[in-house]
Amino acid sequence: MRVLKFGGSSLADAERFLRAADIIANNAKQEEVSVVLSAPGKTTNKLVAIIESALKHGEAERQIAEVEESFHQLFDDIKQQVPDIDGGDYLGQVASSLSQLRQFVHGIGLLGMCPDNVNARIISKGERVSIQLMKAVLAAKGHAVNLIDPVEYLLAKGDHLEGMVDVDISTQNFRNKPLPAGHVHIMPGFTAGNKQGELVTLGRNGSDYSAAVLAACLRADCCEIWTDVDGVYNCDPRLVEDARLLKSLSYQEAMELSYFGASVLHPKTIAPIAQFHIPCLIKNSFNPQGAGTLIGQDTGEDKLAIKGITTLNNLTMVNVSGPGMKGMVGMASRVFGAMSASGVSIVLITQSSSEYSISFCIEAADKATAAQALADEFELELKDGLLEPVEFLSDVAIITLVGDGMRTSKGVASQFFASLAEVNVNIIAIAQGSSERAISAVIPEDKISEAIKACHENLFNSKHFLDVFVVGVGGVGGELVDQIHRQQAKLADKGIVIRVCGLANSKGLLLDSNGLPLDHWRDRIKNATEEFSLPRLIATVQRNHIINPVLVDCTSSEAIANQYTEFLAAGFHVVTPNKKANTASMAYYHQLRDVARSSRRKLMYETTVGAGLPVIENLQNLIAAGDELERFTGILSGSLSFIFGKLDEGMSLSEATNIAKQNGFTEPDPRDDLSGMDVARKLLILAREAGMSLELEDVEVDQALPPGFDDSGSVEEFMARLPEADAYFKQQLAQAAQEGKVLRYVGEIIDGKCKVSIAAVDENDPMFKIKDGENALAFYSRYYQPIPLVLRGYGAGTQVTAAGVFSDVMRTLGWKLGV
Ligand code: ADP
Ligand code: ASP
Ligand code: MG
Repeated sequence: MRVLKFGGSSLADAERFLRAADIIANNAKQEEVSVVLSAPGKTTNKLVAIIESALKHGEAERQIAEVEESFHQLFDDIKQQVPDIDGGDYLGQVASSLSQLRQFVHGIGLLGMCPDNVNARIISKGERVSIQLMKAVLAAKGHAVNLIDPVEYLLAKGDHLEGMVDVDISTQNFRNKPLPAGHVHIMPGFTAGNKQGELVTLGRNGSDYSAAVLAACLRADCCEIWTDVDGVYNCDPRLVEDARLLKSLSYQEAMELSYFGASVLHPKTIAPIAQFHIPCLIKNSFNPQGAGTLIGQDTGEDKLAIKGITTLNNLTMVNVSGPGMKGMVGMASRVFGAMSASGVSIVLITQSSSEYSISFCIEAADKATAAQALADEFELELKDGLLEPVEFLSDVAIITLVGDGMRTSKGVASQFFASLAEVNVNIIAIAQGSSERAISAVIPEDKISEAIKACHENLFNSKHFLDVFVVGVGGVGGELVDQIHRQQAKLADKGIVIRVCGLANSKGLLLDSNGLPLDHWRDRIKNATEEFSLPRLIATVQRNHIINPVLVDCTSSEAIANQYTEFLAAGFHVVTPNKKANTASMAYYHQLRDVARSSRRKLMYETTVGAGLPVIENLQNLIAAGDELERFTGILSGSLSFIFGKLDEGMSLSEATNIAKQNGFTEPDPRDDLSGMDVARKLLILAREAGMSLELEDVEVDQALPPGFDDSGSVEEFMARLPEADAYFKQQLAQAAQEGKVLRYVGEIIDGKCKVSIAAVDENDPMFKIKDGENALAFYSRYYQPIPLVLRGYGAGTQVTAAGVFSDVMRTLGWKLGV
């Protein structure tokens, strides 16, 4: 005998209903089957809503009519596919169910309350309707069908809405009145009967439990739960995009997973089947060929330490504490006794070791009941100040790791907590069962999505997502987007999903939390209708619970640089070739680093100095290892490297500048380069990196123009005037040549001072040979002297700079890159 259960999602419309019927028919060909059915689709929710409306004198009648209509529609649609179907019993059932429902609703309205026994009869109506329809479909297919009345066979204990079935007595009932052979047996899920023979329900989503109980009573060979997903995943597939399907689970693992929120299985399901070692298979009625997930005696094929991560929402944490609790015998039992007496179930408990407080989580809906029960139980203690007023912390959730193998593997908890910290989740409480099969953290509910994604990324060695927002998509930014586009597939092979979720320039903004398509992105941004707005970027990340957002600022805007702290605080990593933030005031410089540290985000700016050359990283490593910068000299501007190199070859300054400008080596306004401010900013960044506390005004800047040269007017006017500077440079050059030297535009740090100027350098100087856009940086330090550490290479160009930015973006993943 096999027991097959179909959930509401598998019966929601004609197509699904008929697919379920096919699965039943195919199984019935092989062996005897018993079927348990839920109500179609969301019928039970609608019935619950009708009761609520009746209590509030709301629109119950309209809702009843809708339910009625949906039952008729379902039948009409099925009849189109199965013209021979005899709908007599089904339509009779619908009519009698709804007429009774209308009477109940009338009564509820008059009474102003809905007794539990009536409630149970109302909310279980959908199941009764399902079985009549399935019977009619199977009969039309030529099957003999026997309906099982759970009120007659399954004896339930407990109240009318949360019954627990006594499997021993129920088994006896089946033995006393055996099921007729040669039939497909169909039982409505969700219900049983109490000692008085009244209908009771087994708790919301209780049809899984009905199936398990039936399988246990019949000592079935297998209990199959047919639903709308391929089986049990390691995370709720609705919350985690690349959740992984599990081949197998032990009963205990399944129990913990479902208890802590994996709604694919009701928590009560496991006990009855585990008792009789009945294997349970979770299958997808939309994909019957799929293997499904097998729940059995041992953890099976998936030998993972952690099997799954689950979440439970809508909880309230209760904290009972006070000086009187220390050593007070029976305190815990009084707290929990009060809860149990008032019907409040406790999800998780923690207690401080000093016994000064007991904290536990309950469902949010139970808060008022719990508060009253505790106030009554501890009236005296509260009055005498032995207990402090009971604290209720609303809007909390529990995230839980489950796995039999956690007992024997180390470091799981630390990875768990580190993952939560990484997405800035504050852990309110922690609990680990003594079986070490589950470890739970209580966290704020609004962080659940980030928490589960981060844990899944880190603990399952699964894909890492990098969601990039590029602001400024001209030269470097545009090239970066192209490089990302080219590299996406290769990175995906390594498990890194890099998506461009935002593109912005001064004119427009494109946003898509699932990643923008990158073909023809330039046309798309040209036609973007949305205006650029930084708060929109932050809102997108927050609304979509993106856990690794990266802001890439490829502008030279001071206004954007001034908002990095807001981005970091909102969970963005910031990657930037824009020098403005690092050369703003020292106060902002420190603030940036403080915010980055406290929000555990990275601020990466390797390309602010030396374009793609690994300058900042090397300097940081040296300083971290205890080295000290004593002197620095370097050519830090690609454009000035080009221009001064051309002077060596006999070209005039104006000619060299013109060529550089035409080739795009200079800024659109070459005065930005010739003024020396760009080099000054780079020098300041290096000086600060080396530990000096300096402001931009402290950098002494001699422009790369003759002293007092008139640099006013438009770009064209300035360029037209530039030849007037040629004579000065010719003379300077000749003077240097006499001493065997060349002219270079150099940045220097000596004795704690920064200076940018034209310098004459001889052939022993590392700067002597630097031209054609090359950069050279010579660091003389405690360890590197008299021979300096020299970094040189192409120090300009959009490609190398964009590649440097790209590598910074990748480095925001930190250690995960190595996995
Ligand atoms: P049914 O109507 O068949 O009873 P449910 O909605 O009760 O279906 O359960 C199936 C749903 O459980 C899936 O659609 C899925 O969204 C959700 N779910 C939550 N956690 C998990 C998990 N770990 N694995 C699979 N499904 C899960
Ligand atoms: N129909 C019931 C509910 O929605 C039982 C079930 O489907 O499991 O709660
Ligand atoms: Mg279900």
